[in-house]
Amino acid sequence: MSSYDVDLFVIGGGSGGVRAARIAAGYGAKVMVAEEYRVGGTCVIRGCVPKKLMVYASRFSDEFHEAAGFGWTVPEAKFDWATLIANKDKEIDRLEGIYRANLEKAGVEIIDSRAVIEDPHTVRLINTGTLVRARYILVAVGAHPTMEPVVPGGELGITSNEVFHLKSLPKRILVIGGGYIAVEFAGVFAGLGSETTLLHRGDKLLRGFDEDVRDALGDAYARRGINLALSKTVSRLDKQADGIAATLSDGSVLNVDQVLVATGRRPNTNGLGLGKVGVTLDAAGAIVVDAYSQSLIPSIYAVGDVTNRANLTPIAIREGHAFADTVFGDKPTMVDHSLIPTAVFSTPEIGVIGCTETLAEVRYGEVEVFKTSFRSMKATLSGSQDRVLMKIIVEKATDKVVGVHVVGEGAGEMIQLAGIAVTMGATKADFDRTVAVHPTAAEELVTMRTPYMVKKAVAAE
Ligand code: FAD
Repeated sequence: MSSYDVDLFVIGGGSGGVRAARIAAGYGAKVMVAEEYRVGGTCVIRGCVPKKLMVYASRFSDEFHEAAGFGWTVPEAKFDWATLIANKDKEIDRLEGIYRANLEKAGVEIIDSRAVIEDPHTVRLINTGTLVRARYILVAVGAHPTMEPVVPGGELGITSNEVFHLKSLPKRILVIGGGYIAVEFAGVFAGLGSETTLLHRGDKLLRGFDEDVRDALGDAYARRGINLALSKTVSRLDKQADGIAATLSDGSVLNVDQVLVATGRRPNTNGLGLGKVGVTLDAAGAIVVDAYSQSLIPSIYAVGDVTNRANLTPIAIREGHAFADTVFGDKPTMVDHSLIPTAVFSTPEIGVIGCTETLAEVRYGEVEVFKTSFRSMKATLSGSQDRVLMKIIVEKATDKVVGVHVVGEGAGEMIQLAGIAVTMGATKADFDRTVAVHPTAAEELVTMRTPYMVKKAVAAE
């Protein structure tokens, strides 16, 4: 008889943990999942899903405004924050129910408790103190938002965890951070009518993205009336009778109603018992794993944000699935992190896959860059000054498309499909022989014929 209570104990019922549990159970494993907050994890409860619902809400203001150019008279539109939050919460409750039901249908036992590791095969349930012996332990505990750097009065700010439950729409908000979460929430609040300042210590938003994309977003946000406070930091926050006074590094003071800190996230590895069993953490506190998500302790695996490889839901899901295939399905599977299509739900939206121009030059030497920037057909009547940016980067030697970057309406949807072609190894000639869909903005992706520039390899010069 087995000395284990379960074959697999999953700590964390988020994107990665839920997928791993279901697939492992499908292979016949006895599986238990512990979740300390709500099943569904960050993505469903306080990440991608509620955020995207808020993004949708924020974009109606443009639509109402732009409808006039098409002959519509729209009475003055009013927005009610409480309705949005209540409807969003209802949808999140529904999704959590589906996640629970799917786990139960797969035969997985859900434990509503925090769990910590006692030894390489034992987990302790905090709510009851029960010890559970497991053949394998999967750590899928995700990450949490940080309030760094710490400044006097910093506790007056909120993080993305609290932003989904604000009692009212702030009239004036300061969003701190330059990554995708900060950028997306600045877009949301600006669209909903808040006077929005986006403060970032760097001189451009979205570090790591293509420079043209970064410039296009900065221009678009400035045009939309978002107050961009770049190359600045916050020195302190002070409570005022009517809100919060934020003192900035240049000495200026900004009075706002809310401060949203979106400066980073850290893996949830504190107090989990990892150190005592010998699981190695990196400098950021993430669990170090191999290509099969196995830690240095053979019975302990980790997937998703807690490993800080690529902190996105589809990646956590893939890693969880690959883990289950490897350990319980007799199909050793590695996840390829090299080509990840991704979107930023700013307004205008961003979709990218593959290399930036700068990285492509380093990686491939000689590259061709195809680029276009235009006002969409809709903008001709709506009066919107937003521009669409499309950029394709091609390795000259092979004609392979190694990067596609889109800024504009529907960019996320476009990049999912362009991503198939790029993942298949499409060449620029493949893009060119694809018939355009007319009239669309996306057709520009298959009609750009003349390189904007050819960059020679440094060595070849
Ligand atoms: P999580 O989904 O975070 O799940 C971990 C779970 O473990 C949590 O439910 C937590 O409560 C639980 N837990 C932690 N410790 C314990 C413990 N000791 N015992 C029991 N349970 C525990 N990604 C995208 O791809 N697209 C997006 O548009 C997107 N938008 C985002 C927007 C925001 C505001 C945020 C914060 C994130 C967003 N992400 C997005 C990232 C995405 O949410 C994460 O990459 C994904 O949820 C990671 O999944 P995970 O399984 O690793 O962790």
